[in-house]
Amino acid sequence: MKLFNTLSEKKEELQRNSGGRFTMYFCGPTVYNYAHIGNFRTYLLQDVLTRILEVDGYNPCVVRNITDVDDKTIRDSMKNNVSLKTFTEKWATIFHEDCSALNVKLPTFEPKAAEHVDEQIAMIEVLVDGGFAYATADGSVYFKISAFPAYGALSNLAHRELQTQEVDSSGKKNLADEYDRESVSDFALWKATKPEDGENFWPSPWGNGRPGWHIECSAMAKKYLGDTIDLHSGGVDLKFPHHENEIAQSECANGKKFSKYWVHMNHLLVDGAKMSKSLGNLYTLADITAMGYSPQCLRYALIAGRYNQQLNFTINNLVAAKNAVEKLQNFFEKISDGSGVQKFEISDWKFFGEAFEALIDDMNTPACLGGIFRLINDIPIEELNGQQRLELHREFSTLMYCLGLPLNDKNENVEIPENIKRLAAERWVAKQSKNFAEADRIRLELLDHGWNVNDSKDTYTVERV
Ligand SMILES: [Zn+2]
Repeated sequence: MKLFNTLSEKKEELQRNSGGRFTMYFCGPTVYNYAHIGNFRTYLLQDVLTRILEVDGYNPCVVRNITDVDDKTIRDSMKNNVSLKTFTEKWATIFHEDCSALNVKLPTFEPKAAEHVDEQIAMIEVLVDGGFAYATADGSVYFKISAFPAYGALSNLAHRELQTQEVDSSGKKNLADEYDRESVSDFALWKATKPEDGENFWPSPWGNGRPGWHIECSAMAKKYLGDTIDLHSGGVDLKFPHHENEIAQSECANGKKFSKYWVHMNHLLVDGAKMSKSLGNLYTLADITAMGYSPQCLRYALIAGRYNQQLNFTINNLVAAKNAVEKLQNFFEKISDGSGVQKFEISDWKFFGEAFEALIDDMNTPACLGGIFRLINDIPIEELNGQQRLELHREFSTLMYCLGLPLNDKNENVEIPENIKRLAAERWVAKQSKNFAEADRIRLELLDHGWNVNDSKDTYTVERV
C-alpha cells in the first residue's frame, strides 16, 4: 500500500515487516465531552486505513490512547465536582458507544494516560539525565528545544522562526498543553501541582505534579509498540506542536527514529466554515441521528472525501450518503445467495480491481467509491455463472469490509428458497429412515448454502447461518 508521508512529503510504499506486525499509533480522544464529527472523521479514516492494511496482509497492530489527564479533563471534572477518574470514565464510555455505532474497530491496545504516569516519569528522567530537559524551581520539567536540532521537521517549521526560549524559574512561560507556532518555546513535560488541580497530582522526583500532555503518547507508544513504530497518525491540527513534541521526546529518550510514516487526516468544515461552538456547527453523532440519518450514513459521508483534503460537510452529504448506502444494499441483496462468503482470499481481482487499487494507492476513497458504482451500474448480473457470482460477492464484501460499511446479509423474514426446502425435506426423510450418513451429507450441503437445520422430536426448522 502507498500513502503520503507527511515527514518526507512524498507518496511512499509502506514497507512490510517480514512476518511481524505493522505497528501504528493513533492519537486518541481527550475524554471530557462528546467527540464531534470532525474528530470522528479522523477516527473513521484511521479505521479504514487499518482495515485496508488487514485485507492487504500487513497484520496491523494499533495503539489508540485515551487522554484522561490534561488541562481540560481536570478543569471540567472539578467543575462537575466528581473525581477525574469517574468523570473521564463516563466520557470514555460514551466515546466507545459512538465508535461502536459508527463501526470503528477497537484498537489492539487502548492505554489511558492516567494509568501510565510511571512510564511517563521514567521517560522524563531519561530526558533530564541526557541533558534534553531541565527542572525549574517550582518543580516543573521542560523539554529543551535547542537540544534537538531536528525540531520542526514534520511541520516545516523554519529554524529561524523558533524562539527556542528557555523557561524562567517562575515556570510560567509555557505551561499550556496547546499553543501556536508563534509562541514556540520549551514545553512542559511535567507540571508542578497548582491549587486549581485539586487532588489530581502524582509524586515524582521533582515533587507533586502531573504529566504534560505530549509525553503520554511517547511513553505509551514505547511501552506497547517499541522505540520505533511503523506509522503514526492524527488530525492535521496535531502536527504542530503535539507531533513535533512527540518526535522530540521519543527520539531524544530512545536514540532512535520514532516513526517511519506520518499520516495526517485533514479538517472537516461544516457549511464551509471551521467547526466551533460559537457558530453552532459542532455536530455530534447524536445530532446527526436526531436528524434521522443513521450512523452508517454519517460514516459514509465522512469517508467519501480524500483523507488529506478538507471535506466540506453539509446536509446534502448526508442525503447523498443515504442514497449511496441504499444502492450498495440493493446491489448486495441482488448478488447474495445466502452462502457464507470468506473475505480476504482474493489474489486476483476480477470485478472490483480498480476500486481496490484506489484504496491501496494513497487511500483514495472517492475513487474507490466511483469504481464501485460504475461497476454496479453496468454489470449484467443475470449473465454471470455461479462461480462468477461467488467471486463478485466475495470482492464486494471485502471492499465493504475495508470501508466498514456492513450491509445487511440477513433478512429477518427471509423466504426459504425452494431448493433449500427440498434439501431439508430430503434430509429429514434420510434421518427418519436412519440413513445418517446421507442426512449428514445433506446437512453439510445446506450449510454450504448458508442454511442450518434444527431438529426437534417431530419436525425440523431451517434458518440462515
Ligand atoms: Zn499523540
